[in-house]
Amino acid sequence: GEHMRLSDMDADQRAALLAEQEREHQELCGRGLSLNLTRGKPSSEQLDLSNALLELPGSVDLPAGPDVRNYGGLDGLREIREIFGELFMIDPDLLVASDNASLSLMHDCVTYASLHGIAGQQPWSNQQVKFVCPVPGYDRHFAITEHLGIEMIPIPLTDDGVNVEELAALLADEQVKGMWVVPMYGNPSGTVWSREVVEKILALPAAPDFRIFWDNAYGLHHLTDEPAEMLPILDMAAAAGNPDRVFAFASTSKITFAGAGVSFFGSSKTNLDWYRGHTQFRTIGPDKINHWRHAAFFGDAEGVRAHMRKHREQLAPKFALVDEVLSERLGGYGVAEWTKPRGGYFVALRVPNGTASRVVALAKEAGIALTPAGAAHPLRHDPDDAVIRIAPSFPPMDELRPAMEGVATCVLLAAAEQL
Ligand code: PMP
Repeated sequence: GEHMRLSDMDADQRAALLAEQEREHQELCGRGLSLNLTRGKPSSEQLDLSNALLELPGSVDLPAGPDVRNYGGLDGLREIREIFGELFMIDPDLLVASDNASLSLMHDCVTYASLHGIAGQQPWSNQQVKFVCPVPGYDRHFAITEHLGIEMIPIPLTDDGVNVEELAALLADEQVKGMWVVPMYGNPSGTVWSREVVEKILALPAAPDFRIFWDNAYGLHHLTDEPAEMLPILDMAAAAGNPDRVFAFASTSKITFAGAGVSFFGSSKTNLDWYRGHTQFRTIGPDKINHWRHAAFFGDAEGVRAHMRKHREQLAPKFALVDEVLSERLGGYGVAEWTKPRGGYFVALRVPNGTASRVVALAKEAGIALTPAGAAHPLRHDPDDAVIRIAPSFPPMDELRPAMEGVATCVLLAAAEQL
């Protein structure tokens, strides 16, 4: 839709728009909708793509090497580490396969560093440690650092990462020990970090126990024919002279079954030795039968790529629909901007400052659940109250359209109310 800019309207036109949106919103509330755009969960059709896993390993031959049915093998099954090592461009010797959730591995790493320290430095819990938090970012990252008493310093995401000079100034503080990064198709911005920015960041001076938490949760989740470049992050860190700077994470939560897949941790040999030195007390070993099942399901890296193309077939139309409805309903008014991600699970919708929480409340009245405003910021505080995360994967198409139309009504109403 090519609507007149709200800021160009005269008082009568604005009043008419406000009345019209109030009517529409009331009508929306009367429809008794119950729609949910909150979490980036795969739809049940997407989960169906992996149903064969439920039959595996079945009578598939046991893999060579130590018996997967028994204890041990802290690093996980070699076969699954080879498949995902190829995909994530990480040497399988430097990639550990673990249990059902990469978030647990991130939590473990922060906890180990807090209790025991890393790189021969003081435990983080003995000091006021800080993490750099690119915003908008992933709420559960910020929840880990909040829960463990770490101060969070927001830095705005740019189109290709963060401003390197700004980051350099932050890293000059020795108390800055970590940074959360979702390098591909960020949650919720869809941001892809460029090779140039990452190269520079890897070379910046920083505390010896500063670690980049490189969470590549969406690294294989392309939505277009122009996939973003997978960066060989550990090789790049080594080339930059800081081989121990990166903790890399990923999982199959949004590849196979959410919360019932395989998680991965990649890092330098020194860091992995540190990690194993603590993890050996936490567990005798990971669920290698699940690794075996996943290795049998995919076969090889190409098997994973083919599987991801099926996800894309289901997801791409949903993202196209979000863009279509928002363009139609909001285009021209000058009251909203939204990302058009090339991958991942989210769209970040930017509304006029001071209206995001109002939009979420209006949507709730109409039975449309949105992620709380502020969720994409440390301590749930979006200083602009302007970012709303849209997660279109879960609802079926016939629910997604009314949900997005409803969101558009709420955005317009909140903007008109503010004038
Ligand atoms: N990282 C990011 C950026 C995510 O969006 C999610 C899922 N919402 C996760 C990690 C969670 O991954 P896992 O299930 O492996 O803990």
